[in-house]
Amino acid sequence: MLLEGKTGLVMGVANKRSIAWGITNAVSKAGARVVLTYQSERLGENVTELATSLKDPLLLQCDVANDDQIASTMGRIREQVGHLDFLVHALAFAPREALDGMYADTKRDDFKTALDVSAYSLVAVSRAALPLMKDRQGSIVTLTYLGSERVVQNYNVMGVAKAALETSVMYLASDLGAQNIRVNAISAGPVKTLAAAGISGFSGILQVYREKAPLKRNIDAAEVADTALFLLSPASRGITGETLFVDAGYHIMGL
Ligand code: NAD
Repeated sequence: MLLEGKTGLVMGVANKRSIAWGITNAVSKAGARVVLTYQSERLGENVTELATSLKDPLLLQCDVANDDQIASTMGRIREQVGHLDFLVHALAFAPREALDGMYADTKRDDFKTALDVSAYSLVAVSRAALPLMKDRQGSIVTLTYLGSERVVQNYNVMGVAKAALETSVMYLASDLGAQNIRVNAISAGPVKTLAAAGISGFSGILQVYREKAPLKRNIDAAEVADTALFLLSPASRGITGETLFVDAGYHIMGL
């Protein structure tokens, strides 16, 4: 029970395939109480149904593009829970048209949206959660992808957003380390989720990983979740500012 007595916020559950839902299951099995946020009322229905399997969950709507919603989410957590031991940021968005064709065609508004929702939001929610994590040796984990450092066809502006996210992890880790709060990222291999379905040619990417990864297979959300559990728990207390790959080893391969 690595997280016995701990409470954490998990942002990004859309449905049962979401990596955030895999992490929710892993941390709640490890003894944590979970606060879940969902983006919209429509997704709230899914999340409410899924959360019936959890012990004493708190569910809140929070669109991370909206500063007022972030503030009111943290306010509700303060009132109803009082503190946070960990925060999971497992969300991203880019308009579908930006995830197909040439990166050079990315429109200014699409670039802003992708960077705002997928990278800046980590800064905004970490800052807002800070008072709740005071003196609790907090841990923050976000999700990234190899498209931040290699060109992956059609990943386009999302790769640029993930590069900003990974660099934010380092700067946040440097800022928050003095308060004993750690910040890390997991770079996951491809997993079939709602967000992944928005990337043109995604099943081809799954196949390339199966063929080339040292483990000769794809990974699943439960494997990402177990690594998140490690990073959220005191077992990883010496690690911060890191991006850890959970991709069956794919990223080490050259030609
Ligand atoms: P998912 O579709 O299940 O989750 C994405 C979540 O982002 C959804 O819950 C959606 O509601 C949320 N979201 C989007 N815009 C938002 C906003 N404005 N406010 C609040 N929430 C918002 O897909 P997933 O694959 O589980 O994605 C989770 C994270 O994992 C993302 O950061 C994604 O980039 C990352 N990731 C996914 C893969 C993969 O192959 N699935 C690989 C590496 C990294």
